[in-house]
Amino acid sequence: MHPRQKTALVTGASRGIGAAIARRLARDGFAVAVNYAASVRDADAIVSEIERADGHAFAVQADLADAGDTERMFDAVSDRFSQLDVVVHNAGIQLLGAHAEMDGVALDQLVAVNLTAAFRVLSRAARQVSDGGRILALSSGTTAVLPPRYGVYAATKAGVDVLIAVLAKELRGRGVTANAIAPGPVATDLYLKGKTEADLEATAARTPLGRLGQPDDIAGAIAFLAGPGGEWVNGQTILVNGGLI
Ligand code: NDP
Repeated sequence: MHPRQKTALVTGASRGIGAAIARRLARDGFAVAVNYAASVRDADAIVSEIERADGHAFAVQADLADAGDTERMFDAVSDRFSQLDVVVHNAGIQLLGAHAEMDGVALDQLVAVNLTAAFRVLSRAARQVSDGGRILALSSGTTAVLPPRYGVYAATKAGVDVLIAVLAKELRGRGVTANAIAPGPVATDLYLKGKTEADLEATAARTPLGRLGQPDDIAGAIAFLAGPGGEWVNGQTILVNGGLI
């Protein structure tokens, strides 16, 4: 009998870091549910790329700021996969502003997408992930660096760190681990938006490895935690930033 293929749900997998995680987990043998909010073409392209490489994937639309969409996404995953082994909650947005400037709309959006949605996804993952599975979330190195204008964004990600640490304890007895990865700057739409060449060069120069992070750098860390070697890491937020801090 063939062993059952392992399965993973990656949120925000149409672009950037999430797309790299979906590709990497598929390469490591997982069937992957590729969540997106709006970028249907990008999500379909990731699914096609995985299938061309003889992997298994499907795309599932859900705006995770919406509670009903989040439930629908997990229902779609349980319709397609007999078990769910790994959830990677990667979807997120970044809006910046000093305390004296940031308006209530940006504040509400950040909290809705980065914190409330994270709680809902982790909460449903806690119920749906099979015993022995893995729950992972994307935090941010800004919770350690604390740059001006990143206050609300970093606060939502610090919230993710706390949720993950508590969740790991609540999962006691099931062999399910929960961890967060906190990337430094990674060359994606989210990070590159509004930056000049000089900004990017300055950040690369501050990093001991002399470059910006790439989505595959983060996917490698996620693959380790999702794979057999990551079993003993639990309840942690791990900085993956080329040594920037
Ligand atoms: P991108 O902006 O490149 O991609 C964001 C992804 O999240 C897209 O797939 C997008 O879907 C999805 N998404 C956004 N909002 C929602 C929503 N409401 N519901 C469902 N999906 C949504 O971001 P990155 O790849 O750079 O970031 C991924 C994660 O990593 C984020 O949580 C971010 O905070 C974190 N991070 C990023 C860093 C960086 O430097 N890039 C550094 C540290 C942390 P769609 O395409 O459909 O809009």
